[in-house]
Amino acid sequence: MKYDITVIGAGLAGLQCARLLAERGMRVVLIDRKSSVAATVQTTGIFVRKTWEDFPLPDEQLGPPIRDVVLYSPSRRTLALRAKRDEFRIGRMAWLYLYLLEQCARAGVEWMPDTRVHGCDEDGVITNRGRVDARFIVGADGARSTTAAHLGLDRNRELLVGLEEIIPPISRERVLHCFLDPRLAPGYIGWLANDGEEAHLGVAGYRDGWDPAQALHTLRCTLPFPAGRAIERRGGWIPVNGVLRNIANERGLLVGDAAGAVSPLTAGGLDGAMRLSTFAAEVIASYFDSGDARVLQNYSGDRFRARFVARRWMRRAIRAMSSPPLMELALTMMRTPPLRAVAEHVFFARGSFPDITVSAARASRPAAAPAPSA
Ligand SMILES: Cc1cc2nc3c(=O)[nH]c(=O)nc-3n(C[C@H](O)[C@H](O)[C@H](O)COP(=O)(O)OP(=O)(O)OC[C@H]3O[C@@H](n4cnc5c(N)ncnc54)[C@H](O)[C@@H]3O)c2cc1C
Repeated sequence: MKYDITVIGAGLAGLQCARLLAERGMRVVLIDRKSSVAATVQTTGIFVRKTWEDFPLPDEQLGPPIRDVVLYSPSRRTLALRAKRDEFRIGRMAWLYLYLLEQCARAGVEWMPDTRVHGCDEDGVITNRGRVDARFIVGADGARSTTAAHLGLDRNRELLVGLEEIIPPISRERVLHCFLDPRLAPGYIGWLANDGEEAHLGVAGYRDGWDPAQALHTLRCTLPFPAGRAIERRGGWIPVNGVLRNIANERGLLVGDAAGAVSPLTAGGLDGAMRLSTFAAEVIASYFDSGDARVLQNYSGDRFRARFVARRWMRRAIRAMSSPPLMELALTMMRTPPLRAVAEHVFFARGSFPDITVSAARASRPAAAPAPSA
């Protein structure tokens, strides 16, 4: 059987894209090396308000809303921020993935678990279970996508590594605790996200000589409150280079982490996974309807990169802040009204990943070169 589309990777990005394409009548196969979408979850699963407002995620699989953030300096001085509205909800990710897979099945997506993709060619993909023929490939295989290389597209170069434990809730208070300490989390933060029902304790940072397991242990031992035994461990890579430029060609395209659709500043990628996949499905449908490969030019990372310039600069600044005294000073300065406003903006007024439609993309695109004649 020849499918229209092979989607490689059943994380949030692949599940969203596969369902939307199948709903448009395409024959879609969704492949993952995992035996179940609920296995080895990598993400904390903190969704920002824009995502749960804009996408029909099941309410019962999102934890109670959080609007309080407490920042900790290396010496554990604190700065408390409070949003006017509910801003974060921790997804019960295994259940969410299962729900989204069921939606895919209802739309007609064929699910192929336990299947590892080794390569791609003109006619589809090569897996440990044999060939899967398809007209077009969607690479949704995460931060270190090999599909990107197989398709000759760009690959992520700047990555953080994250490690966390799910622990019993530390209290009934719903708070996101953020530990700004370059010894614990070089280039990022340590976190304790507590929604009163479950808590996630984690660290992320640049790998260069940094040991995430040791850092997580140190954070646990130096927490200002007791943390219970780990129920589950999660971890993985997080691309923070911003959206890659070259993310589509006539053989396929990239979505989610594979496309670098993660905020370089906050390292949040769930919103980007949903939004870029939605746009990707629209572009693919338009390509299939028209048969005109120029449609794929709309799916260029350049369209999004401009929106991430400030966040990429802030990432550089955070990376450079490698000494605890400097971070201590930064937190002191955040107490001043202008910098407190910046901190509130970063946490609460966060723009989502840019929304774009094919028609809007066409309107803003410089005149395309004519398609090569057949
Ligand atoms: C520790 C950690 C905490 C995070 N916390 C948050 C957070 O709280 N909020 C937030 O917004 N973002 C967070 N992120 C980022 C967020 O999780 C990702 O941006 C998002 O999950 C990416 O989804 P995805 O579908 O693109 O990729 P993934 O979820 O990585 O899915 C990729 C899928 O591809 C499959 N795959 C890979 N290679 C192959 C192959 N060769 N053959 C077949 N299948 C393959 C994998 O098994 C996997 O299922 C976190 C990341 C980490 C690592």
